[in-house]
Amino acid sequence: MPPVIDEQKCIGCGVCADICPLQVFSHKPKENKTPKVQRPYECWHCNACVLDCKAKAIELRLPLTHMLLYVDSSSLRPKH
Ligand code: SF4
Ligand code: SF4
Repeated sequence: MPPVIDEQKCIGCGVCADICPLQVFSHKPKENKTPKVQRPYECWHCNACVLDCKAKAIELRLPLTHMLLYVDSSSLRPKH
């Protein structure tokens, strides 16, 4: 499933648009608005946008086939 952005949480930083390797999001620098999900079906569910969104505003529902192999990478981060 394509990513969904919670506009109430999003701070419009544009990091998700910068980080996405497939240009799923469109975002105009300097506008600080919530990016649009312009190419939803290009998403390959790499989870990079979810991990890099400081506002935790992106929800990504993984296809069942991905969920069978999915590991929550936040659990792999070193604890400080
Ligand atoms: S990274 Fe998160 S807070 Fe920043 S624009 Fe994207 S959805 Fe919004
Ligand atoms: S999960 Fe990966 S491919 Fe999909 S929108 Fe996020 S960064 Fe782009």
